[in-house]
Amino acid sequence: MSSVIAFVGLGHMGGPMAANLVKAGHRVLGYDLVPESLAAATAAGVEEAGSAAAAAREADVVITMLPAGRHVLALYREQGLLAAARPGTLFVDCSTIDVADARAAHEAAVAAGHRALDAPVSGGVVGAEAGTLTFMAGGGEAEFTEAEPLLLAMGKRAVHCGEAGSGQAAKICNNMILGISMIAVSEAFVLGESLGLSHQALFDVASTASGQCWSLTVNCPVPGPVPTSPANRDYRPGFAAPLMAKDLTLAANAIREAGVDAALGLNAAALYQAFAEGPGADQDFSGIVRAIRDRSAAPATRPADQNGTPA
Ligand code: NAD
Repeated sequence: MSSVIAFVGLGHMGGPMAANLVKAGHRVLGYDLVPESLAAATAAGVEEAGSAAAAAREADVVITMLPAGRHVLALYREQGLLAAARPGTLFVDCSTIDVADARAAHEAAVAAGHRALDAPVSGGVVGAEAGTLTFMAGGGEAEFTEAEPLLLAMGKRAVHCGEAGSGQAAKICNNMILGISMIAVSEAFVLGESLGLSHQALFDVASTASGQCWSLTVNCPVPGPVPTSPANRDYRPGFAAPLMAKDLTLAANAIREAGVDAALGLNAAALYQAFAEGPGADQDFSGIVRAIRDRSAAPATRPADQNGTPA
């Protein structure tokens, strides 16, 4: 069944996601503060709305894809998105935001007489363009069932994770595993280098032993063993380090709020924050191996790495 969808936030992710909804036969009313993003979306068949509220006024479903929780909450409340929509409209927020903000957004939508779902994604810009994203949804069963066909028009998989905020919780828990495991793999390679162990030998052992993980076998942080990993193209993203730093900051906020003893999650957040503010600003998150190597013992005490550059 085709729906009228308001889509607010037509950036790197939202633009191609809205375009995929148009391709699936839905009428999409789009809005973004940046005229260039709006123009790119209209070229893909999205109808330009004069404002976010104007788009919401006519919609069955309102989808937001915004930078952070404060943008979502301001749009919902102060900027009148909830007030503009018809009673009972389904609000689906696909942004990656704090679990607490997701719950507050859900409560505000319900208090205004609407229904809500948090549905953050993994899969990046490539997945948004190809329509292969994975959605992690939090909210009621009925809301998930209603949104599912729309999510599957933008992605290949949608998992209902539980009540309000559970989609965001699943996203940050998964990315906390990813951030910690990338640091673990990177530290192991740098330690291996200093012990005279070749990258390939460590890879051959760990990739088929208990150290096996995605950070090693798909996104291997050293060049060579996995030819498609960003390390082989000077760490061009991929999954950019600032996005990993953002997700780990959300995880750290949740860790502190919940009072969980998660030393590695907090450490990973601090390490990625420093990396993303420095050399990692435009690198894949696996580039953190170079920061670890740089902070390690003097190069003279370690062999050259397998690229021929001094380790
Ligand atoms: P982006 O900055 O490219 O897009 C966000 C858009 O929101 C911008 O175009 C901005 O102008 C618009 N915007 C902000 N406030 C607005 C308002 N009040 N009204 C209308 N438009 C407004 O960011 P992105 O890369 O598309 O990411 C969006 C979200 O998806 C983020 O929460 C991010 O963490 C998450 N995410 C991104 C990726 C990725 O690879 N880029 C992957 C997974 C999840």
